[in-house]
Amino acid sequence: MKIIDKMISARSSGQPFYSFEYFPPKTEAGLTNLYARLERMAQYEPLFVDITWGAGGSTADQTLGIAKTIQGYFGVDVMMHLTCTNMPKAQLEQALDEAYQGGIRNILALRGDPPHGQGDWEAEEGGFSYGHELTAHIRKRFGDEVGIAVGGYPEGHSEAPSRSQDILYLKQKVDAGADFIITQLFYDIDEFARFVKECRAQGIDCPIIPGMLPITNVDRFLRFTGFCNTKVPERLRRDLEPIRHDDQKVQAYGIAHMVEMCRDLMDLGVDGFHFYTLNLETSVLAILHQLGLAEERRVRRTLPWRPSTLPDRSQEMVRPIFWSNRPKSYTARTAGWDDFPNGRWGDAQSPAFGDLNEYYLIRQGLGVMAKKEDLVSSLGEPASEEEVFSIFKGYCEGRVKRLPWCEQELQPETEQIAPKLSMLNQHGFLTINSQPQVSGVSASDPLVGWGDPRGVVYQKAYIEFFVRESLLKELIEELKKEPSITYQAVNRKGRVLTNASPQMVNAVTWGVFPDQEIIQPTIVDAQVFMIWKDEAFDLWERDWVLRYPESSPARSVLGRMCQEYYLVNLVENDFLKGDIFKAFERCLIKKRPRKAGASSVELRG
Ligand code: FAD
Repeated sequence: MKIIDKMISARSSGQPFYSFEYFPPKTEAGLTNLYARLERMAQYEPLFVDITWGAGGSTADQTLGIAKTIQGYFGVDVMMHLTCTNMPKAQLEQALDEAYQGGIRNILALRGDPPHGQGDWEAEEGGFSYGHELTAHIRKRFGDEVGIAVGGYPEGHSEAPSRSQDILYLKQKVDAGADFIITQLFYDIDEFARFVKECRAQGIDCPIIPGMLPITNVDRFLRFTGFCNTKVPERLRRDLEPIRHDDQKVQAYGIAHMVEMCRDLMDLGVDGFHFYTLNLETSVLAILHQLGLAEERRVRRTLPWRPSTLPDRSQEMVRPIFWSNRPKSYTARTAGWDDFPNGRWGDAQSPAFGDLNEYYLIRQGLGVMAKKEDLVSSLGEPASEEEVFSIFKGYCEGRVKRLPWCEQELQPETEQIAPKLSMLNQHGFLTINSQPQVSGVSASDPLVGWGDPRGVVYQKAYIEFFVRESLLKELIEELKKEPSITYQAVNRKGRVLTNASPQMVNAVTWGVFPDQEIIQPTIVDAQVFMIWKDEAFDLWERDWVLRYPESSPARSVLGRMCQEYYLVNLVENDFLKGDIFKAFERCLIKKRPRKAGASSVELRG
């Protein structure tokens, strides 16, 4: 989606938006960490993220690759920076086409700086000389399909003949087709206010978004401000001087200072803030929290899952629940689908679920379970089934951060049933996905709400787990007394135990909103479960079993479990009075040696 359109609709919320800028890291490990960080920060719902273009085109391939990956898999709109430095026109065309094909619909069009060591900026032969030329070119080539931003300089660009002339050149960029302006970093609010006033006087009426760089380290801060010819107010210098060698104090000061700056800018009526993150997260997130913007934004989910931002998926409204902890894998599998009629895929029986090659390429970059050392340190080396149980239990209790099937920590909505899940895991029901029952809760609820806040949302309780066959059979006996529960169980070899129709498609999340049909964005689809099952067992084997040496006890116990256990999903269809945990409770009571005086066992943590 074009950022300018999002900006305009964000205005109605009455809250400023924010966006995060990142640069391509130099190493593979850096990229791994950047993706993980970006994914965490994406949960704060930035309006967009942007990726810089290396000076002189030095990171062109990387910038393109990262931008396309984020646009495709992270559910956040990307703006790619593009400069004309060292870029003949044909190369610029190529970069623009590749970005467009990768789903990117927003470009920050820049002239660029001279390459390192070169005095004056020189255009490539036949290439562009100024930002306005690149802007006009993009507008002409893509029409209104692509959003364009340009750079603005509150204190004047360093090569500009004068501040006022620089503003006239800025007007030229806007007239050439730019939708909005992002400013160079600045620390003097009066300079910014004056700049905006002068821009407006010259007829520049598009949004002007302040570029914010929180101070985290004094030397770096002075280097940046020096490089950009940015005025450093005397008070800032005075405050920083006594603490300049204490990075922690500088960071705390930088946060407080930026919060104050943002508040002043809000008083001036800015639409939002653009943060130069320098690929760091602590300061930016602390600032958003202190401004009270982060919590607000996090609860405003449009759907229970993060929609893809790829243009051809804009109609997507329904997803199977199985991939809710692995949305990127789902997006990759369905990347080849060119339409989502009625908001969902056409036919689950068609060969629609593609393979995961492309996804695995990113996965390596994501670093999720990528290294043996990471895995061993986070999951340990279980030598018995009981030790495996306690790893899963640890995930429910927040001690274990990831499982091969769960790329994120437990979702906040699941925390309300976490003690019960924890108890199930302790007894060998190894949960990997779940959602609590929700009946008629406001769509604005911070934990389970989504969509138009005036609506009402519902959920059927859902649990998905691995379990050994003997325990599964005991549970199935108990489930016979719970006719409102449907279950599907399948082992690696494909042996199925179920009470559901093989064609079952069961809506497990839905919402009722004013002026709309009922939306049912999450389903349990019996056939799709069989596709997910292959991925789930592959993950068990490839991301877990095979990470340990051949003769190790961990490999032996995990390998056996992978072969023998069943993957099971359970839906409590009575979303008013049902209790998905009851059958488990009875099952565990039967197994427990009875102590004198004990009359019941409840799934309490
Ligand atoms: P332009 O608008 O083209 O201006 C360049 C100079 O020419 C100015 O001095 C201007 O006054 C003058 N000028 C403009 N039009 C005319 C005209 N018609 N006739 C005569 N003179 C004119 N650099 C990177 O390498 N990679 C990045 O990812 C990157 N990201 C940035 C993000 C932001 C938000 C900003 C503000 C800057 C970024 N830069 C980046 C830096 C940018 O490339 C430099 O500041 C560059 O020197 C100017 O680019 P521009 O497009 O703003 O320049």
